[in-house]
Amino acid sequence: MARTAIDVFCDTCGVTFRGVPRRTFLGFHKLECPHCDAEVLFPLSNAYRFLYSLAAVGMGFVFFAALARGHFAAPGLISTAILVGLVKDYRLRKQLAATNEARRLRDGPGAG
Ligand SMILES: [Zn+2]
Repeated sequence: MARTAIDVFCDTCGVTFRGVPRRTFLGFHKLECPHCDAEVLFPLSNAYRFLYSLAAVGMGFVFFAALARGHFAAPGLISTAILVGLVKDYRLRKQLAATNEARRLRDGPGAG
């Protein structure tokens, strides 16, 4: 995947800066604001979200199949990481939507 610089708005100090995102362990894109050192995190790409959702559904099947046979399948490290990633992604996207909505309302119609 090409690593290209993108324009990022920092919610902490309100500055827009250009930077190349790094990928975190779970596949999130992360940038550090050069002005206030705050972390700016982006939601997962569609491919990651799809894979994680697929894995979560698969884990659900395994869990209930084990339960049906009278076993309790505790989630492993990777399963837990995937679930944490999905929850984090959901929150980020909700937050991003709220930020965009607030900006849209503030700037008025037709301003991006
Ligand atoms: Zn900042």
